[in-house]
Amino acid sequence: MLNGEKLIQRPLRWGMIGGGRTGQVGYKHRTGALRDNTAYQLVCGAFDLDAERGRDFGQNLGVPSERLYDDYKALIAAEAQREDGVEVLSIATPNFTHFEITKACLEAGIHVICEKPLFFTVAECEEVAKLAQEKGLIVGVTYGFTGHPLVHQMAAMVKKGLLGEIRIVDMQYSHGFNAGDDTDAGEAVKWRTNPLTAGPTFVLGDIGTHLYYLSEVVMPELKIEKLLCDRKAFIPSRAPLEDHATVLMHYNNGARGRLWVSSVNAGNMGSQRYRFVGSKASIEWSDAHPDQLIYEVQGEPNQVLHHGMPYLEEESLAVDRMGALHTEGLGDSWANIYLWIAQAIDAKQRGDEAFLATHHYPGIEAGTEGVRWLENCVRSADAGAAWVDFE
Ligand code: NAD
Repeated sequence: MLNGEKLIQRPLRWGMIGGGRTGQVGYKHRTGALRDNTAYQLVCGAFDLDAERGRDFGQNLGVPSERLYDDYKALIAAEAQREDGVEVLSIATPNFTHFEITKACLEAGIHVICEKPLFFTVAECEEVAKLAQEKGLIVGVTYGFTGHPLVHQMAAMVKKGLLGEIRIVDMQYSHGFNAGDDTDAGEAVKWRTNPLTAGPTFVLGDIGTHLYYLSEVVMPELKIEKLLCDRKAFIPSRAPLEDHATVLMHYNNGARGRLWVSSVNAGNMGSQRYRFVGSKASIEWSDAHPDQLIYEVQGEPNQVLHHGMPYLEEESLAVDRMGALHTEGLGDSWANIYLWIAQAIDAKQRGDEAFLATHHYPGIEAGTEGVRWLENCVRSADAGAAWVDFE
């Protein structure tokens, strides 16, 4: 069980680019980073494109005013002059800024925690991976749902063989937020539906990458060999990006996968659902009920496993925070992700490569694989929803 005790030498000096007062995801970062005051301390920020609003916001968060900056360039330049300068920066800005800001941070010797989809292309991911390695720095990626204890229960059950051979993977992340047209759309929808600011995809990158990464965590041995992606903009102004997509996948063990993502699933706020079907049993989990895992063994009564209960696998109990009687939610999941990235940064600072070799956290490889999956999806969709070999 995790209870906030220190797991690294001292809290990391942490700051944020973006994630300001009007930003959708900024609070999740602060919830994740600051849940344990033994992991991070918020010391600086350039929270907003509107510098004045960003300063006001930062002051209300308790950040010293001299460490609130007009933009990320000013932040990096000034923090580099301080003995107690920032050590790690989170990037919670629109997709098109991730690559440029990440590179600037790494060049300045600052570790990065970046939002997904990480960058626009695999080539950009590889360039950044090389730079991070040269500089001895960590790039974490906030796949924030994969800190839930029952995700790690699923992974442990698959590893133990409780499902038998995986045959079917069925995943869905769909909501109805964008079922109407974009006439009165806010900034967060505008940049998401423009290829210049969102990148090559809308919902595939925005929410599909969460599904894909979680499936990698649960079944790391399975690799996609071929996929077919069919995407469509039901609201024509969003084309060539998609507000709905279906992806079929063939895995290297013969398993079949089906994934659908949509932001036009009118009336539905059901969020995510995962079902992994094996030759002996199936498991199903949804972030709408993150405390419960359905476990169905063929020929036996179905079971609902509850987070935090002693009958769960050690891997799940080790990352539980609240205990079985209380809801373990998204904030706890983000706190785990942030903690695991802090441990990676701490190990990097100490030169503890042995720790890093076995420590699991969403890093540059996970971000790169997400972008690789998107590139394959787009290649298939652009070929008229054709089967393509996964490259
Ligand atoms: P948003 O439009 O709601 O907010 C963006 C924020 O960044 C705003 O505060 C804006 O002022 C600020 N900003 C923009 N450019 C900036 C710059 N150059 N310097 C400093 N601040 C800048 O966007 P959002 O929904 O919060 O999404 C931001 C990122 O987070 C995107 O990459 C998105 O895909 C990702 N996201 C991830 C999750 C998740 O679960 N991991 C959830 C939502 C969004």
